[in-house]
Amino acid sequence: MIERLLVANRGEIACRIIRTARAMGITSVAVHSATDSGARHVREADLAVDLGGERPAQSYLLGERIIAAAQASGAQAIHPGYGFLSENAAFARACEAAGLIFLGPPAAAIEAMGDKAAAKALMGAAGVPLVPGYHGAQQDQQSFRKAAEQIGYPVLLKASAGGGGKGMKVVEKPAELAEALESARREAQAAFGDARLLVEKYLARPRHVEIQVFADRHGHCLYLHERDCSIQRRHQKVVEEAPAPGLSTELRAAMGQAAVRAAQAIGYVGAGTVEFLLDDQGGFYFMEMNTRLQVEHPVTEAITGLDLVSWQIRVACGEVLPFTQAQLPLQGHAIEVRLYAEDPLNDFLPASGLLQLYREPTAGEGRRVDSGVAEGDHISPFYDPLLAKLVAWGETREQARLRLLGMLDELCLAGVRSNRAFLQRILAEPAFAAAELDTGFIERHRERLLQAPGAVDESFWALAADAWLQSEPAPMRGDDPHSPWAARSGWRAGMPATSTLHLVCDAAAQRLQAPGQAHLEGEWLVHSVDGVEQRLRAIRQGDTLYLQWRGALRCIRRFDPTAAADAGHGIAGGLNAPMSGSIVRVLVEVGQQVEQGQALLVLEAMKMEHSIRAPHAGTIGALHCSEGEMVTEGAVLVELREA
Ligand code: ADP
Repeated sequence: MIERLLVANRGEIACRIIRTARAMGITSVAVHSATDSGARHVREADLAVDLGGERPAQSYLLGERIIAAAQASGAQAIHPGYGFLSENAAFARACEAAGLIFLGPPAAAIEAMGDKAAAKALMGAAGVPLVPGYHGAQQDQQSFRKAAEQIGYPVLLKASAGGGGKGMKVVEKPAELAEALESARREAQAAFGDARLLVEKYLARPRHVEIQVFADRHGHCLYLHERDCSIQRRHQKVVEEAPAPGLSTELRAAMGQAAVRAAQAIGYVGAGTVEFLLDDQGGFYFMEMNTRLQVEHPVTEAITGLDLVSWQIRVACGEVLPFTQAQLPLQGHAIEVRLYAEDPLNDFLPASGLLQLYREPTAGEGRRVDSGVAEGDHISPFYDPLLAKLVAWGETREQARLRLLGMLDELCLAGVRSNRAFLQRILAEPAFAAAELDTGFIERHRERLLQAPGAVDESFWALAADAWLQSEPAPMRGDDPHSPWAARSGWRAGMPATSTLHLVCDAAAQRLQAPGQAHLEGEWLVHSVDGVEQRLRAIRQGDTLYLQWRGALRCIRRFDPTAAADAGHGIAGGLNAPMSGSIVRVLVEVGQQVEQGQALLVLEAMKMEHSIRAPHAGTIGALHCSEGEMVTEGAVLVELREA
C-alpha cells in the first residue's frame, strides 16, 4: 500500500504527480531547493521538505537526502518524474535498500538502457531493428573511419552515455570526421563524464515516432500506441502528438510489438518509452529506450483515457493491467506543445526572471494544462526552462490543432521571454496542418516560424490609448459615478472629452489622444471593426498595460520624455541582464536602500557599458552576480524589494 508519496522533482511534472496522488487519496510530499521554497509544487503538495541548496547538484540530485526526506515524512514510495534522478540506477537501488518503492522500472532495466551503445547491442540481439551503425568498444579514429565507410555518409556521432541531444554531430563527408570526433568527445566528456561515442547512419528527413509501453509485475506488457515527436529544435521535442498521423495499421502494430520485445528483453515494469526513427519507406529503427515517464505522456493519456501516473502506482502495488492489447482504447487525436521560458529568436536561449503576468487558458472539454508556475513566480536559471504543457484533444487531428491554437491564443504571459508565438506559428503552418512531419520541419520552415512580432500601427495605438485611460484608477473618489470629477476621459466644460497621452510599446513611443472607440469590460477591451465586435485581452498591472494584439501580448507603459532622456539604457532594462555580457561594477550591497533611478550594476556587453538602475525606490533583497562574472541575457542580477 502507498499512503504517502514523495515526489522527487519540481515544476509541472511534480504538480501533475501531486494531482494524481490527491485523486487517489494519497498524501503527497514535495521536496524543494532553497530557491523553490515558494514554488507551485510546494504550494500544491500536502507536505514539503527543504533539501537545502540551490543548484540541482545541491538539491534535486541529492539521492541520500531525498531518501532521508521520504523516511522522515513517512512516505512509502518515491516518484522521480523525469530528468534529475529518474534514470539513475544507483538511486533506484538505494530506494529499494531503504525499503522504499521506486516508481520506475527495476534498477537493472535502467542500467541496461542507460548506455546507448550497450542498449543497441542488446536490442539487436532481441530482434529489434537498429539504424545501421557501429557501437563497439574500439574508440580510435581508424575504427570510426572504417565503420563510417561501411555505413555510408552522412553519419551521426552520438555520445554513448548521451541524452538531451548533447554530444551529437552530423558528419557529411570523410574529411570532416576527425574534427567531429574530437568535438563530440569533448562535449560527451563535459556533459556525461564519459567520452565514448557511437556512429550510425544519419537518416534524411526521418520522423521520430515512439511507443509508450506499460508492463505489470505479472508478465503483461502492452503498447499504449505511439506518439509522433518529429517537431524538434536542436534534436529536442517541441510539439508531440498521438497517434502518429498517416501510419498504416500494420506498421503501428509492428512498431508496437517491437517495443514490447524491447521492454521484455530487459524485464521491464511500469511506464517506459521506446523511441524509433521512421524513414519515408516505412522502415523503423530503434534509437533508445527512456526508462521513465516522458514529458509528452499526456497525449497518450488523452487518446487512451488512462492516467499513467495512477497506473504506475497501481502496478507498483501489484495490480494487474486490466486490458489485453486488443481492448486498449484509442479515441481521437491529441497534440501537446511545450511552453518554454526561452528566446526562439536568440537561438532558443533559456530565459529567466519574474513572471509578471501569467494567465493560463481554461482547462475543460478537450483541453488540459499541466503547469508548474504561477503569476509572480520567479523563473530560475538553474532548472529546465519548461513552464507548462498545453494539451488539446479532438475527435480529429484538425479539431485538436484548432483547439490548441485557441488555447495558445488565450495564454497571457509577460516578464519572461517564451516560445509562445513560435508555437502558434508552428501550429498555424500549412505543412503542420497537412501533417507533413519530419525532424527537419523547424529548420525547413524557420524563416516563417522565427519572425519577430509585427510592428504596431495606428489602430493599435488607438486601442492602447482607450485601454490605458479606462484602466486608470479613478482620479477622484466620490459617491456619484456620473460626476465629471470621477471621469477618466479628460472631460472639460464646453469641449469634447479628450486626453493626451504619451505611451510606449516595443521601443516605439507615441503621443496620442484617446479616441473613445473601445471600452473595457473587466480585462477585455471591446471594439468593433466593420460591425463585428472584437474582444482583446487588456490587463492593467500598475504602470503597465498588457494588450493582446495580432497574436502577441504587447506591453505598454506611459512614456515620460524627460525621464527617459537621462535613464541610461531607457525604459527596457530592469533587474535582469538586458543582454549577455560581463558585470564590470557592482555598486550596491544586500540590504542597502536605493532611490528610484539609482545605478545598481554596470554591465559590459558588445563593447558598451549599460547601467542597471532601480525602477523604483527599495531595498536590495539579493545580489545574483559579482564583478567580473559573465551573465546571460535575461539572467536575474539583483532583487529589489519595494520600499
Ligand atoms: P538524445 O538521447 O540525446 O535525446 P536521441 O538518440 O534520442 O538523443 O536522438 C534525438 C533526436 O536526434 C531524434 O529524435 C532525431 O531527431 C535525431 N536523430 C537521432 N539519431 C538519428 C539518426 N540516426 N538519423 C537522423 N536523426 C537522428
